[in-house]
Amino acid sequence: MAGERILVVDDDPNIREACVEYLRINQYNVHESKNGEECLQLLKKDYYQIILTDLMMPGIDGIGVLKAVRKEYPQSDVIIMTAYGTIENAVEAMKLGAYDYITKPFKIDELGILVKRCLEKQRLAREVDELKEVVNLYEVSKAIGSLMDLDQLLSRVIKLATDTLGADGGSIMLFEKETGKLIVRAAAGRREDMVMGKKLDIGERVAGYAAEKSEIVKIDGSLKDDPRFCNLEQFDGIQSGITIPLVRKDKLFGIINVHRTEKKDAFTKKDVDLLSIFAAQSAIAIDNAYLFSTLQQEKEKIEAVFRGMEDGAIITDAQLNIIMLNSSTEKLLNVKRKECLGNNLLGFVSDFQPSIPWKELEKKEEKMVNFDLVRTSGKALFLSVVATRIRNEQGKLLGQIMVLRNVTDEKKEEIVKRNFLSLISHKLRNPLTTILGYLPFLQEKMKVLGEPEKEVLKVIEKEGLILSSHVDKLLMFTLLERKFLEIKKEKVDVKSLVETSLEMIAALIKVNQAELEIDSSLGDIGQVYVDRLKIQDVIENLVENAIKFNDKKEKRVKISGRSLDDKFIQMEIADNGPGIPSEEHEKIFQKFYQVEEYFTGKIEGIGLGLALAKRLVEAHGGKIWIESKLRQGSTFYFTLPKTE
Ligand code: ADP
Repeated sequence: MAGERILVVDDDPNIREACVEYLRINQYNVHESKNGEECLQLLKKDYYQIILTDLMMPGIDGIGVLKAVRKEYPQSDVIIMTAYGTIENAVEAMKLGAYDYITKPFKIDELGILVKRCLEKQRLAREVDELKEVVNLYEVSKAIGSLMDLDQLLSRVIKLATDTLGADGGSIMLFEKETGKLIVRAAAGRREDMVMGKKLDIGERVAGYAAEKSEIVKIDGSLKDDPRFCNLEQFDGIQSGITIPLVRKDKLFGIINVHRTEKKDAFTKKDVDLLSIFAAQSAIAIDNAYLFSTLQQEKEKIEAVFRGMEDGAIITDAQLNIIMLNSSTEKLLNVKRKECLGNNLLGFVSDFQPSIPWKELEKKEEKMVNFDLVRTSGKALFLSVVATRIRNEQGKLLGQIMVLRNVTDEKKEEIVKRNFLSLISHKLRNPLTTILGYLPFLQEKMKVLGEPEKEVLKVIEKEGLILSSHVDKLLMFTLLERKFLEIKKEKVDVKSLVETSLEMIAALIKVNQAELEIDSSLGDIGQVYVDRLKIQDVIENLVENAIKFNDKKEKRVKISGRSLDDKFIQMEIADNGPGIPSEEHEKIFQKFYQVEEYFTGKIEGIGLGLALAKRLVEAHGGKIWIESKLRQGSTFYFTLPKTE
């Protein structure tokens, strides 16, 4: 390829002009110079591929030119022209790195061949260089792809970068979020071991500057000559350097830098471009490695939690093929993890009857589905399952996480309790009805009975009624739990509902001399749409409690209510009793729950009144809650529907 720049240096104008003319004819871009000094001036301004110089010149001679070129412009080649008698000098010139020499007088074609050969060598060298860059960059991307350990990876990147750029050394510093410092995590070159682990603040020295400004810094020559860094101490012999911030998605990961010592020439613009590629690759690698290590940590955490879970846990794909399964699941389903992995879950639960058929479960759209698995053969086993579906952003089902809990004990207890409840309520209720049924018959004979007998009869009646109320509660509760209790709703006037309820417990009110206040607001509410008897039960229970647990001499109960909106009304039953501590507010609505005697002074009833009230109110679509402070009384609230 013609057009290459050639500089001809000779103090003999004839030879000089002959060469210039010949080379120009051959399409080279030729410049000339009559001595060494002028030649060096020209070299400062422009780059020449070949310097064709006479050896013997006054002032700076051919050897001087050669030395300067080798030092300052190593990419350029020098061809020496020498007279026959000075051949030894020519040999010396070769030792100093001249490309070749040509002896005067020479045939001009010979020069042509020599120049061509030299340019060809340069082209090949360039190709080799480029090939090396490509190979090294390929190596880097391969290393990143194989996701090796970050330190290993960074060390590989810096070695390849220094090699590719012909640098004497370099390092990669990472930005530590915790300390806000840059720390050397990989280094290459002579000072490798010394610099490892060294820290710099952001803004400190050249690396800190590049990181702070997010700017590529290229240093040519001494730091003293650069106004940005002239105050910095120069490290041994470093003459030229490039520092590039490692940035990805606007995030600073650190810097990469390479340097050359005095013996070599300064980095070029092309070197900066090349190092930028390494920098970009490193940033990707670091970003990936961080992401990978966070993911890895998260994965390990999840696996540890998963393994250690007392409940069974299974992760499946969308088709219910098992991806993960913990040891609790192995025990619950009596399976081996190895046999399960990769296989369909349904193959391992054939002994179990799901409370919702599998086919229906698959169709469910909810994020979380609750169902039971009951073992149908062998020993009873009840598993409560919560299946959570995992979907991607587009809503596609990716898989499910199922948590299995062995609820056999609870279920058995529930069954026993239910049987027990139905047993005692039936077996007690019948004889009780008979006993209480005969009471009026005896009371008829009151006149002929003596005082002690009359007292006995009163006690029998009182205790009989209490017992009967307990049994009724138990029975109603059992029916409710079994969902046997029918709710027959009708339009009922609120005020009359309250009045009837109070009539039912008139005896209790009287005995306790309780003051009952029915707020006038009740008269304005109008009607509710409820099962009259059930809501009467609720009111009776609440008023009973308000009196029963009231330790004051003057026991006061106030019943009020108001319309909430067009759908609901709210009732309030307030007492001036002992109050209930806040930590008990939730619990008192649980079945068989009683607050310690310490608070109320007495334990009456069987802990079913509020549980029953809650279930009855909820069966009407309402809510029940309490507001209470110790020693300041309690107010029970509940809502009831106005319409269907
Ligand atoms: P019980 O059958 O014992 O009355 P409840 O379910 O009606 O059971 O009430 C649960 C517990 O809540 C009672 O044992 C009592 O300690 C407490 N409690 C209920 N109502 C009141 C109230 N108005 N004032 C103080 N304590 C109450």
